[in-house]
Amino acid sequence: MTALPEALLRSLAAIVGEGHVLTGDATAGFAVDWTGGFRGETPAVVRPRDTGEVGAVLALCTDAGVAVVPQGGNTGLVGGGVPRHGEVVLSLTRLNRIGPVDIQAAQVTAGAGVTLRQVAEADSGLDLAVLIASRDSATVGGAVATNAGGLRVLRFGPMRAQLRGIEAVLADGSVLSHLGGLVKDNTGYDYPSLLAGSEGTLAVITAVRLRLVPRMRDAVTVIVGLGGLEEVHAVAHQAVAEVPGLVSAEFFTSAGLDVLVSHAGLVPPLPAPVPAYLLLEAFGPGALEDLAGVIGDREAAVGTTAADRGRLWAYRERHPEAAGFLGVPIKLDVSVPAPQWVRLAREVARVVAAVDPDATVIGYGHVADGNVQVNIVPGSAADGRHEDAVLSFVASLGGSISAEHGIGALKARWLPLARSEAERALFARIRAAFDPAGTLNPHVLPRLPAARPHPADHDLPRRACPGRGLAEYPAEPYVVGLEADEVVLADHGSRGHQAVRLA
Ligand SMILES: Cc1cc2nc3c(=O)[nH]c(=O)nc-3n(C[C@H](O)[C@H](O)[C@H](O)COP(=O)(O)OP(=O)(O)OC[C@H]3O[C@@H](n4cnc5c(N)ncnc54)[C@H](O)[C@@H]3O)c2cc1C
Repeated sequence: MTALPEALLRSLAAIVGEGHVLTGDATAGFAVDWTGGFRGETPAVVRPRDTGEVGAVLALCTDAGVAVVPQGGNTGLVGGGVPRHGEVVLSLTRLNRIGPVDIQAAQVTAGAGVTLRQVAEADSGLDLAVLIASRDSATVGGAVATNAGGLRVLRFGPMRAQLRGIEAVLADGSVLSHLGGLVKDNTGYDYPSLLAGSEGTLAVITAVRLRLVPRMRDAVTVIVGLGGLEEVHAVAHQAVAEVPGLVSAEFFTSAGLDVLVSHAGLVPPLPAPVPAYLLLEAFGPGALEDLAGVIGDREAAVGTTAADRGRLWAYRERHPEAAGFLGVPIKLDVSVPAPQWVRLAREVARVVAAVDPDATVIGYGHVADGNVQVNIVPGSAADGRHEDAVLSFVASLGGSISAEHGIGALKARWLPLARSEAERALFARIRAAFDPAGTLNPHVLPRLPAARPHPADHDLPRRACPGRGLAEYPAEPYVVGLEADEVVLADHGSRGHQAVRLA
């Protein structure tokens, strides 16, 4: 890592105050992610307190040719907020002012560093529509930058759908502000929407205007025991069709539950173990009856009080921790079209086993959105084979290699599976328009190569993939083809192919 010149450190301190430029050991917690899987180092963590300071810091860093990684709550799961190549960390947590709730418009303006829980609790009658398990630490800036999804997307959409305005700072220090909160506003390019999901590569978000939704009344949460993943999918889709007040449909399996029971002290939700569990939540008059109609005579746990519902939600919300009890996990959030969901959920462990027979795979997620969170604890080297196998399997099913966490550092190599060359070239041109010097998050998403040489430009070998529909493919492919009932995997020992029959 290259140290920053003393003069630059002094200039940064003159902007934010000496106590808010951290160096040495004080930076450690900012240089590692929540899973422990992404580690880096940084010459300095800079903690501005307002938009003006953010602008001055960015202008200084861009002039000095210093790369910057924006960071909010550091709960991201793809390594996008970690300084893996010695970048300066721009921590936004001090931008933590939240305005008064506009009851009439059902909106609020929040600084980038305000947590999602703070927004959700800003008014007793209104709520933030996006709910994620990391809400105590995840910030609105980070949640917009990742277009966070979470537990209620089926009803309210992801973070982008909550955006009513944004304030952001470009790498040269100029401020864009569009916080009026108008629902109808066709006055040119919708750059707030573009910044949603931009993963800190286009601009630093300093404040957002968010829509709020009425707080749920008469909420009911159930966990239903089911015979397998096919039944999970069928019951979830029945609930979407037949329960008007449905807000969540989440699944997990005995694989993750058993880990939480033995390592986190959870007591199983149902008297007898079953292969798969579906959590449904609905609200409003008749919610209980509607859910009962879907559950039929299956075994279920029901919560109608806040305490009981919280107890049931813990089974699902603690699943992101489960794999971490067994080792450092690889976390892949993927989605596929509804008709392919059962195949993905059922076969993904076998696809992983074909490249690492000793790996442990835990699946859970937002079933109604076509999502599976694939958590893998490797049994052999974490050299990309697990990502390769899962992400190319997903691409072969017509799915997305990132349902909601983003591309970050974790999936940068596999972006060609999801986006064509023309799309990636457009990404790079958009990026060059926002940040021509390449200051912001240079190792996330494609850049135009001209701006400044980065090590990331050299470490991604590309080769053609002989698999169906996977025209250009980085690194060594593991899944090279997909037939009706088998996945064709590369055999790296012999360079031949091996067919794995699917159930
Ligand atoms: C237990 C757990 C459960 C989770 N569940 C979900 C879930 O259900 N759905 C989901 O979508 N995610 C989930 N996540 C992932 C994570 O919480 C979200 O991605 C969250 O939105 C990240 O917010 P953050 O403030 O922590 O951002 P960070 O982790 O700090 O940063 C994430 C990315 O955003 C960029 N960034 C951060 N702040 C800014 C800013 N102000 N301006 C520009 N760029 C910025 C960073 O550079 C980085 O690329 C979960 C994480 C954990 C640990």
